[in-house]
Amino acid sequence: MVIKSQTLEELSAVLAGWGEPAYRAGQVLAWIYAQRVTQWEAMTNLPRTLREKLAAQFKLTSLELARVQGAKDTTRKFLWRLADGSFVESVLIPANPALYGEASDRHTLCVSTQVGCAYGCRFCASGLEGWKRNLGTEEIVDQLLAVERHAAAESRSANAATGEPPPEKVVSNLVIMGMGEPLANYDNLLKALRIINAPWGGGIGARKITISTSGLVPQIRKLADDPLQFRLAISLHGATNATREKIMPVNRKYPIEQLVEACEYYQRQKGRMITFEYILISGVNDALTETAPLAALAKRLHAKINLIPYNLVEGLPWQRPTEAQCEAFLAALEKQRVPCTLRREKGHDIDAACGQLRLRTKRELAARSR
Ligand code: SF4
Repeated sequence: MVIKSQTLEELSAVLAGWGEPAYRAGQVLAWIYAQRVTQWEAMTNLPRTLREKLAAQFKLTSLELARVQGAKDTTRKFLWRLADGSFVESVLIPANPALYGEASDRHTLCVSTQVGCAYGCRFCASGLEGWKRNLGTEEIVDQLLAVERHAAAESRSANAATGEPPPEKVVSNLVIMGMGEPLANYDNLLKALRIINAPWGGGIGARKITISTSGLVPQIRKLADDPLQFRLAISLHGATNATREKIMPVNRKYPIEQLVEACEYYQRQKGRMITFEYILISGVNDALTETAPLAALAKRLHAKINLIPYNLVEGLPWQRPTEAQCEAFLAALEKQRVPCTLRREKGHDIDAACGQLRLRTKRELAARSR
């Protein structure tokens, strides 16, 4: 068993079976989630015999940082090497009140849910080499812990002279939008999110957690019936079947009509606003004629639209529209009175697209071993 995939209830049941007092499970989880220790020996308020028993029964693994990219105080990309040698990415983004949460001096963390992806969206680096496997619950949870540990270590070394302690935590919001289709790894993801949401775990409110999907209709309905109030983002990228099918094969299985009905069901159940992610790709979905069906969908679902100019992916033919084209697309939507934002940051270097850092690292490693 892996300790970072255990809920308080599950661990309590195991420890009760060992004859341990009821407060022990809380102590263990406090070491893992509040203190973020990586060794059983560090749990100094547990009897040695219990630490040994826990070590024999549970794996306490941590993600290995393979690479980090980006400057402090801006978007940072972390590339993790998993136990089987696979790579996944997490991205730490300075808070942007216009996006997924409220104004904050904290950060949003974007996490991955699969190694590779089976959905093959034509513009995406993550799906280029297909799907390898689902991440385990603990591998999703550990992206948060590992980023927090990294941030605390950095803050400690920056404040070494003053001795000022690191902030308790830096991640306030979570978006499930990294490598993989989150809802295709539904059970592991939902368990990870319960742990991340729990007061004894990550302590991040469900309303500060956004799950993104390319449009898996049955799972959207299932999520709608889950009692936790997660936010939902749809990677739309086209407001008609004709446009969406050009770039998203998933649309053939779940066309827009079905997707919209599932979103309506989600809203009826949750009463929450949905976000449409719309990557603007030159000559594919950025014509101003696309704004009328997009605005109509957004109005029908009371959705907010997040426009994202395409980040170039090495080996793919797609281009980013000009700034003027992006601004014109935004203006056309605003004229139709739908809430809409345009990501304007300039840092769209070659590795900015999701999955790019992993792909480049894999290629470099392969070249070195030749
Ligand atoms: S955009 Fe998302 S669903 Fe589509 S291939 Fe990439 S990771 Fe998979």
